Amino acid sequence: KAFEQRSVVIIGAGPSGAIAAALLKRKGHDVLILERQRFPRFSIGESLLSHCLDFIDEAGMLDAVQAAGFQIKHGAAFACAERYTEFDFRDKFTEGFGSTYQVQRADFDKLLADQAALQGVEIRYEEEIIAADFSQASPRLQARRSDGSDYAIEADFVLDASGYGRVLPRLLDLEAPSGFPVRRAVFTHIEDRIADPDFDREKILITTHPEWRDVWYWTIPFSNGRCSLGVVASAERYQGRPDDLDACLRAFVSEAPNLRRILANAVWDTPARLIGGYSANVKALHGPGFALLGNAAEFLDPVFSSGVTIAMRSSSMAAAVLHRQLSGETADWETEFAIPLKRGVDTFRTYVEGWYDGSFQDVIYYPHAQPEIRRMISSILAGYAWDAKNPYVAEPKRRLRVLAELCANGAPA
Ligand code: FAD
Repeated sequence: KAFEQRSVVIIGAGPSGAIAAALLKRKGHDVLILERQRFPRFSIGESLLSHCLDFIDEAGMLDAVQAAGFQIKHGAAFACAERYTEFDFRDKFTEGFGSTYQVQRADFDKLLADQAALQGVEIRYEEEIIAADFSQASPRLQARRSDGSDYAIEADFVLDASGYGRVLPRLLDLEAPSGFPVRRAVFTHIEDRIADPDFDREKILITTHPEWRDVWYWTIPFSNGRCSLGVVASAERYQGRPDDLDACLRAFVSEAPNLRRILANAVWDTPARLIGGYSANVKALHGPGFALLGNAAEFLDPVFSSGVTIAMRSSSMAAAVLHRQLSGETADWETEFAIPLKRGVDTFRTYVEGWYDGSFQDVIYYPHAQPEIRRMISSILAGYAWDAKNPYVAEPKRRLRVLAELCANGAPA
């Protein structure tokens, strides 16, 4: 049987696929993306961190993203009952981008994919990878077109950027349990009509439920007068609430005084959706002939909006290793990709765990924090979780524990 022969085949045209594709194409490689949906398509994950602009820039897409009219984002604000604090990403320890964007992902993902295509990447939409064979010297993929017909492709290397599709983890039995408990998000888009002059559209607002610290909300303003609004909670927190998702989300919002006030005039015009069990992990990030990118590998938790940034970082690192490999140099995927990528992911993990056990919330909401320490925290919240010069990156567990203790004692921290 004749196979179509390609050099790099990427599964999925989301942010991780589009960035990896462009980076490899720019190095002169043949790149084909197969994407099961037609773009634009909805995706959750609308608040970007500053660090992801480094990869958008590296992929030659920064001008296009800057010209697209997305909502500028300068940082993150946190509110719990009457407590309020904010981090400005322009004021941070690590050098690099300060401001970033809040994006409707349907538009943003299409823009990145179109930019990759403009750079010469071939993208086939509405074609789904349904099988993979890595037993031969060259990997083979089975693709299904929207008319139901199948065909096979042989590649030098496959990058799985299929996000929640988790194509290779499923097909190659690489799934591993996430260390995080199952949580669910219920979310919608609203016409927000926020009139409060103190509300900062240039920051994501994370609100902690006034009674349950493990329940939190996101409010992500867009540039068109609309907001993404969602709540994240474990299954038991949903008990006794309306089954209807809109009513459920409204009930949660009514329990947070700041949101009730800010959103008093909002027009709820879009049916709410539910996504649950999104935290996932894998046994390996790579194997002979493949590597996993973005959400197809590990997804921690949405609380610090780190998903797209980790996804793009994985693309940038994988593209560099793969370029060396395809150029005939030796490439060690474990030491050059998996281990260094996981370092930053593990930094985020520490702070996500600290968010849910309350220790990092104590730090975030602490009123007497030292400016220098806040700048180090700001760097991590801006996505610079791989900067080992930042003590809160180099030793996240110990530093967080010490800081949380100082905050609990009311000392300057
Ligand atoms: P995706 O964006 O999911 O793209 C994968 C693509 O692969 C899709 O287009 C899909 O159609 C395609 N595909 C799947 N299967 C196949 C197949 N078999 N064949 C071909 N194509 C296939 N991240 C942030 O950065 N900021 C946030 O504010 C944020 N909020 C979040 C809130 C929630 C509740 C959740 C659950 C996540 C959030 N995230 C956030 C995470 C974010 O959604 C993901 O990290 C991000 O979309 C990952 O990008 P990706 O390119 O890896 O995958």
